[in-house]
Amino acid sequence: MKYLVTDDSKLARLSIVKSLKAHVGDAEIFQAENGEVAVALVKEHKPDVVFLDLTMPVLDGYGALPLIKECNQKIKVIVVSADIQEQAKTKVMALGAEMHIQKPINADKMQEILELI
Ligand SMILES: [Mg+2]
Repeated sequence: MKYLVTDDSKLARLSIVKSLKAHVGDAEIFQAENGEVAVALVKEHKPDVVFLDLTMPVLDGYGALPLIKECNQKIKVIVVSADIQEQAKTKVMALGAEMHIQKPINADKMQEILELI
């Protein structure tokens, strides 16, 4: 399995990478700082799972999500956001996200996510 972690905050990325590594060991984990880089890395590395922040410069999560799904319908996109309003959740689910999780993701939450996907 290959994973891509997308967030404009380096700290947030590293936090997800850390909890991910605790569960998946030495799986390949790529990182992107915005939606545009994420789409490019999806094309290049074909990850199976993408963690996607919503608020990012250049191209945000709402813009990146359909482009990611266009590359590969089977890709699992986990939206990780501080915005837990029902409207945001409905929107990302309609765009093809697997789930919408509130930031931050700790080790327990990560285990739940990995069991569900
Ligand atoms: Mg952000």
